[in-house]
Amino acid sequence: MNSPRGFQYGFTALFLLDLGVRLALGSSLEWPSWPAASLGLVLVLLVATPLVPASQLSRASVALAVIDLAAVGMSRLTDEGGIGILLVMPALWLGRAAGRRGVVVSAVATALLVSLPAFLYFGSAPTQAARSVLYPVLATVAAMAMAVSMSWVRRERAEVEHQRDRLAEALDTIAHERRVSEAVFDSVDVGLVLLDRHGRYAGVNRRQRQFMLLGFPDGHVGEIGQLGEVYDIDGRTPLSREEMPSYRAFHGEEYDHLRMWIGPDPATRRALSVSARIVKGPDGSFAGAALAYTDVTDLMDALEVKDEFVALVSHELRTPLTSIVGYSQLLEDEPGLPERAQRHLTVIQRNAERLRRLIGDLLDVAQRDRGVPLSIERAPVDLAALVRESLGAAAAAAEAAGIAVHYTGPDTVIADLDGQRIAQVVDNLVSNAVKYTESGGRVAVSLTVHADEVCLEVSDTGIGIEEADLDRLFGRFFRSAEAERRAVAGAGLGLAITKDIVEGHGGRIDVSSRVGHGSTFRICLPLSESGAQPMRQVG
Ligand code: ADP
Repeated sequence: MNSPRGFQYGFTALFLLDLGVRLALGSSLEWPSWPAASLGLVLVLLVATPLVPASQLSRASVALAVIDLAAVGMSRLTDEGGIGILLVMPALWLGRAAGRRGVVVSAVATALLVSLPAFLYFGSAPTQAARSVLYPVLATVAAMAMAVSMSWVRRERAEVEHQRDRLAEALDTIAHERRVSEAVFDSVDVGLVLLDRHGRYAGVNRRQRQFMLLGFPDGHVGEIGQLGEVYDIDGRTPLSREEMPSYRAFHGEEYDHLRMWIGPDPATRRALSVSARIVKGPDGSFAGAALAYTDVTDLMDALEVKDEFVALVSHELRTPLTSIVGYSQLLEDEPGLPERAQRHLTVIQRNAERLRRLIGDLLDVAQRDRGVPLSIERAPVDLAALVRESLGAAAAAAEAAGIAVHYTGPDTVIADLDGQRIAQVVDNLVSNAVKYTESGGRVAVSLTVHADEVCLEVSDTGIGIEEADLDRLFGRFFRSAEAERRAVAGAGLGLAITKDIVEGHGGRIDVSSRVGHGSTFRICLPLSESGAQPMRQVG
């Protein structure tokens, strides 16, 4: 009974029920009399209530309740005394409609319209007198209970509405952010894939859909590991299911710069660089993965042009260099060469040798960039002899720089190695040690044989390497600021190639150093091929 009309109809029904039962059980309704007047009043209200305009209803409801109380008061004014309990209904309504004010109105109206007329009518008859005292109390309690519960309900409702508003705001914000993310997701020039925990494509952006048209011309089922026109960095070898970026990410691998080619036609294919990150659930389990595909075709094309250029230039430089070296050797053997000319010849030979090494390094790097794996041709070689040769070759430079070079180790160490490549490694390490050590310093080279590996250590008392540089030392073209500052000749390729060769043999290389005190480079190589780990090349 939420509307004043509903309340009024309910009250009328109870009033008529009470009257009807009383008449049925033998009471009579005299005319004129107070009960008859109260019946008339209730019926008038019944007819009048629907006529009250809706906008006036809430104001009219207090008046209706007061008139109802008057009707209850009047209906009791017979000798048998009617029931006053009906006053609870208007009292409740007053508490509901007008709160504390309603409590006061209901108490006062009950006292004036129900109790006072009863006093006047019945005098001090004990039962009626007691009821007349009780009715205002009853009305007050009923109105108050209703007022209190209504104010509680209102507070709760206000709180609920407040929460609802906040929720609506939060939902608005989420919806907005979602729209922003979707716009970003679709507008970035990077292909994006979101994998769910089952390996299905939960999200694919516009750029990625273009890549997928190229990589999967027959369509994509939206699940990890589907094979398509997707090739390794060499552009020829199709990727296996296990090598597909989505498959690897689904199996928990995180990576960066995984390069591959997509598309069957060399004229339209694209090179992509892929990164993957795992998404974990609250319990740390795999909940999905995010993959980003960047188009690096232009970069790859530029690199290819660079590699071809380097390879071509290096190749073209080699031929005249070979003749420079050859003729300078012939000249050296020429009898009666003046001492001055002999010195000039030594300078020519030293620089020709540097040039030869640099060209060799550049060719190596260019080949590796083209995806040609480092070729390692093993044969039994005497590593100790090889080290001695390298030290012999470096002796002149060391002597000229005022650096003492020592070797400790066995006379012979036979191992299954690529002699030429390992000579390159030893040359690099020894010539670096000499290059980066000042006059008066020492270079110590030692060879130690263990059960299944042999280790070479090259220590110097030179300039040392900053801790922060140690990680970058083996990267291509890395040169320390100190090396640059001192203008020590070099291209920053030697250590990168050294590392490649050592790892190609299944060995390892590490370095320890203190700035101003010197450095120690240590390589360990398995004595036989069976001890070597196969080397995997990552594109
Ligand atoms: P580079 O031709 O410049 O010597 P490398 O690849 O052989 O190229 O070495 C890379 C860089 O590592 C060098 O430029 C130098 O800064 C540092 N480095 C290598 N060996 C030593 C060493 N023994 N002592 C100090 N710094 C070294």
